[in-house]
Amino acid sequence: MNVLGIETSCDETSVAVITDGKLKANLISSQDFHTDYGGVVPELSSRAHLQIIMPLIKKALDKTGFKLEDMDVIAATAGPGLIGALLVGLNFGKGLAYSLGKTFIPVNHIEGHIFSGFLMEEKPDFPYLCLVVSGGHTLLLLVQSDFEIIKLGTTVDDAAGEAFDKVSKMLGLGYPGGPLIQKNAEIYNGELIDFPVSRCKNKYDFSFSGLKTAVLRFLEKEYGGVGKAPEKDIPMLAASFQKAAVRALVEKTELALGEFNPKSLSLVGGVAANKFLRNKLAETAKRHNKKFVVPALEFCGDNAAMIAYRGMKLYEGGYSFNFDFNAYPGLKENPFFKEYSSAE
Ligand code: ATP
Ligand code: MG
Ligand code: FE
Repeated sequence: MNVLGIETSCDETSVAVITDGKLKANLISSQDFHTDYGGVVPELSSRAHLQIIMPLIKKALDKTGFKLEDMDVIAATAGPGLIGALLVGLNFGKGLAYSLGKTFIPVNHIEGHIFSGFLMEEKPDFPYLCLVVSGGHTLLLLVQSDFEIIKLGTTVDDAAGEAFDKVSKMLGLGYPGGPLIQKNAEIYNGELIDFPVSRCKNKYDFSFSGLKTAVLRFLEKEYGGVGKAPEKDIPMLAASFQKAAVRALVEKTELALGEFNPKSLSLVGGVAANKFLRNKLAETAKRHNKKFVVPALEFCGDNAAMIAYRGMKLYEGGYSFNFDFNAYPGLKENPFFKEYSSAE
């Protein structure tokens, strides 16, 4: 069976092909021009997706030797994401499926991230604890099976990636912030500032706005405001923020490992590319004797391989969808998510 995956939820256009469960192609085209604006400009993103999507599909198919007609399932991201950007990929997928008489499967982008560990040789074992850290979401999940996900916690304010991006901006490093914070943090190995991590009512929830404010207050107090810190202090500030953000993520994850005793631990999403976080969670998993699965870098950020994989699973699970299935910007009612209740 051949699955074509299409991803256009934000500023990456991506196309992938999975044949009988094996990944044959995963092409990712990133829209670098957004850096000039300090963030993603939705309208420009939609137009860029529109321009590149067909050539990218062609290139991916060329790589595999297949033709469009050889595809059995066409899976495209339906949400969450930028609505204009989503509409490009979703409608393209629908149009292809309709005109070729193939099965169309809309895929939830976050579900794509959650199962991205299965693109690796060494896969997670169910049930696994999954830490989703991306630009728009921070979720701690207990993944029981392909179709049963228990939500233990989420962020009460900013997402982890959003915090990296905002602090990067404050430090004058630019966008996207995650890789730039990491790079600066890596060149520093002196003493760090102990930035505080906020507590939440639900023990598995996250909060990053307090940390962000703590960095801001520090910049104001020590240097007289944002943009005033000397260049030589930026790596120290980046490393201090990174350490506090990672500590918050690792603490909650470790707590849940102890309480739920899952078989594996998986770290996914754009922020899973962070080396310091990967290392810290690998150590945590080892301490608890758990298999640790973190996707290769090409599967951490947005990619169509994870969308094709999830589309394949939905198809195999007997799920079917109509062509009137629409794109959605937020994490709408999800049939596979269950809220955790400690009373259960
Ligand atoms: P979502 O998946 O929630 O819809 P998104 O698709 O925009 O949001 P991703 O592409 O999964 O998010 O991740 C992008 C985020 O990952 C950005 O916030 C970026 O700064 C962050 N990121 C990328 N690389 C790193 C890194 N090395 N360290 C920390 N953060 C990183
Ligand atoms: Mg992106
Ligand atoms: Fe994403």
